[in-house]
Amino acid sequence: MTASTDFLAQLNPSQRHAVEHFCGPLLVVAGAGSGKTRALTYRIANLVLTHRVDPENILAVTFTNKAAREMKERIDVLFAEQEAQANYGKPLSALSARDLTQLKSKIYKTLTKHLWIGTFHALCARILRFDIEKYQHPNGYRWTRSFSIFDESDAQSLVKAIVTQALNLDDKKFNPRSVRYAISNAKNQNLTPDDFEREQPNYRGRVIADVYRRYQQSLAENNALDFDDLILVPVHLFQQNEQVLGYWHKRFRHILVDEYQDTNRTQYDLIRLLVTNGEAIDRFNDWQHRSVFVVGDADQSIYSFRAADFTILMNFQDDFGDRLPDDDTRTMVKLEENYRSTANILEVANHLIENNTERIDKVLRATRGEGESIFCYRADDETAEADFIVAQIRNLEFQHPELRWSDFAILYRTNAQSRAFEEVLTRYSIPYQVVGGLRFYDRREIKDVLAYLRVIANPADSVSLKRVINVPKRGVGKSTLEKLENAAQTLGGVPLWEILTDETSVKTLAGRSAKGVIAFTQLIKTYRDRLDSAKGSEILQDLLDASGYVEALKTEGTDEAYERLGNVQELYNAILQFEEENEETSLLAFLANASLASDLDSVDESGNMVSLMTLHSSKGLEFPVVFLVGLEQGLFPNFRSLEDPAATEEERRLCYVGITRAKERLFISYARERRLYGSREPASPSLFLAELPTDHITTNVGLGLPQRMTTPMRETRRKQAAAAKPGSGAHEFDWNVGDQVVHNAFGSGEVTHIFGAGNKICLAIKFPGLGRKIIDPKLSTLQRL
Ligand code: ATP
Ligand code: MG
Repeated sequence: MTASTDFLAQLNPSQRHAVEHFCGPLLVVAGAGSGKTRALTYRIANLVLTHRVDPENILAVTFTNKAAREMKERIDVLFAEQEAQANYGKPLSALSARDLTQLKSKIYKTLTKHLWIGTFHALCARILRFDIEKYQHPNGYRWTRSFSIFDESDAQSLVKAIVTQALNLDDKKFNPRSVRYAISNAKNQNLTPDDFEREQPNYRGRVIADVYRRYQQSLAENNALDFDDLILVPVHLFQQNEQVLGYWHKRFRHILVDEYQDTNRTQYDLIRLLVTNGEAIDRFNDWQHRSVFVVGDADQSIYSFRAADFTILMNFQDDFGDRLPDDDTRTMVKLEENYRSTANILEVANHLIENNTERIDKVLRATRGEGESIFCYRADDETAEADFIVAQIRNLEFQHPELRWSDFAILYRTNAQSRAFEEVLTRYSIPYQVVGGLRFYDRREIKDVLAYLRVIANPADSVSLKRVINVPKRGVGKSTLEKLENAAQTLGGVPLWEILTDETSVKTLAGRSAKGVIAFTQLIKTYRDRLDSAKGSEILQDLLDASGYVEALKTEGTDEAYERLGNVQELYNAILQFEEENEETSLLAFLANASLASDLDSVDESGNMVSLMTLHSSKGLEFPVVFLVGLEQGLFPNFRSLEDPAATEEERRLCYVGITRAKERLFISYARERRLYGSREPASPSLFLAELPTDHITTNVGLGLPQRMTTPMRETRRKQAAAAKPGSGAHEFDWNVGDQVVHNAFGSGEVTHIFGAGNKICLAIKFPGLGRKIIDPKLSTLQRL
């Protein structure tokens, strides 16, 4: 073994095979915690260190920015370890502080910095900063390389403005969030506003089509793209311009994708174009020089609501492969050992996921000891659930000195569930962070300052311009702004900036307003002139003073104003850090980074805090102690999924993701009654509880878990379900709307709705005085009268 491959010893033989496989397509499919991400990370290091691949030729796609950062750090260390051996003949830990600093700086400059590792969005934004000016939109819209990225809240504001102002409609009927969702869906199915309109059978649909058309036009007028465009535009650009595609195809010889099961069609098209240069795979003959390496787990596919499609993972070998019928191993590697969780935790996870029908069976063996048994807690209500969990956290932290607060995670289905936990954690002064709360970049003052920077970088960004032209107050009130906007419209939708800088237009304004407008445009122009020569951090620092923004906050003088001031200071720190860490340090690059920062990025790793997050946010992460809470029908699995077996399977995958985040200890809990979204309702236990293996679980209700089945019972049920012809329905499943029933806890009621079929059936039952409950007849004692 040469010095440069020492680190391969930290992998098992299958991982090692995946890492050492040099060119061609390779798919790694494996269960949770089997070291897929580790294999991907080590593969990048190995490409550079062993095969001497230029880091510029590598493109790695991660699911979050945070994962990208962690991967870069890990690779940096792998590089450093090898270089320490090669240059100094000693391990990294034996280097003097000076040598270490020197080595790290050299490695960063020559290697790590040139790797393109990031999310689809971040990588696409980077490609577009080179090439967007070559893109031909069918309607003739143009973008320049200083385009703004509108994040979800910007996009929704734009939709709202179109609904309420341009179309004069009620935004309660046309809720901006759901209209934006419909538009996003249409875009991701590659439907133009015209295509979309043709598919609409009713008034509402046609209105949405109209909003979509205006929205797209408005984005273009603002020289802006939304998150969907960030991926769609490169795909269209690559399809229409051979030279552009050829350049990136040549550049990215080695492409790696983590969490491939959550890739959607557009993202897949992008990868495929980059790999094949748009050629058909049977005519493509460049595999000697390139690779495409994807890792994933179909059982962890949890983003179908964002059009992710795990059949893309299943089709990988046919899509890219010169697959031989009898030899899968050239294009596929399976990892079968789990390094993350104790055997008990793994057993529970494996058992649960076997209830899904849409899956490929796979092996996942524990490599760690049996561990503690899983504890399942039934609480009276959500407050008791939070009390119990916080008591566990306090106990464990007290009894196990090696555990820190940051070793605990509470995972829930919906954000609204965090409140009860926050209250109890606060009461005991336990530090915590809610991942997925208000993003740093969504705070008002941060949006204001970023809007200034965006106007400086992109004069056409009228949305940002309107946000700050009168912040702090410059006498440019609402009516002045309307007047200016009308003028812009009359001139055929020119950017507001052009009107503001047009002397004749400004002269028509009242004295005070005109003065304000001139002061504002002068300010922006000063910095725009410095865009090429000054760093973003310098521009920001001067701007904060010159704009009067900081002054206004100081004058306000309230606690809140000082907090905002602190956040603005933090933004300055963020830009400094960005300039230190990145190859591309322009203000444009920083602004893209800020628009794409996800809520997960605000996780403070240095902080020693309990993490609270949704199950979706927990993907790819791991914690020594995990609390999986709120396992109740209608909550988890959630209400909407009860009617749809495929959606229930996705909820089950989400549960599998949650369980497999745990390394040492897992607690599962549910409440008998819950106040959620205002009303207090009795709750019934999640159907997933009955699917867990009893012999690995301890409960606070003895074996009295409602209708919990022992393993043999479960087997019988599975066999019955498998034998039952679809629709024939065994006697116990034969329910009808209107049936009168008696439930052991809620008393008598009437069946009002039936969800699902066969063994997935759930009933909506109206209980006089209690309201409607969703009941799984297999889990409750239910008698038909
Ligand atoms: P997920 O499906 O949840 O994304 P994964 O398959 O990507 O999981 P990793 O996160 O790469 O798994 O690895 C899980 C844990 O196991 C990590 O702590 C990792 O460091 C450790 N691990 C992976 N491979 C090995 C190995 N060969 N030896 C020891 N530990 C390993
Ligand atoms: Mg992973």
